Amino acid sequence: MKSKLHDRTTPKIKIKYRKLGKERVWGIAHSDGLIEIDPSLKGKKHLEIIIHEILHLLWFEATEEEIVEKSIILTKLIWKENYRRVESHEDFP
Ligand SMILES: [Zn+2]
Repeated sequence: MKSKLHDRTTPKIKIKYRKLGKERVWGIAHSDGLIEIDPSLKGKKHLEIIIHEILHLLWFEATEEEIVEKSIILTKLIWKENYRRVESHEDFP
């Protein structure tokens, strides 16, 4: 039997960069799978926000508090394993 978690299939997730100053957020996860990330994010915060927004789409019934908690745990562990971003100019039009 399908669990409640799988009642909604996860859309294909795509990340795009857009200045989100007006929205006063660092990232937005849309239900169609589009994730928008503010291009000024760098380093550990960038990783945290990407994980945070992905979790919103993978785990849609979670509360904001649960998403924040889990995304911080994942970010700390991945960062501690020395994963870092290889900067690409194409990401910053
Ligand atoms: Zn959130």
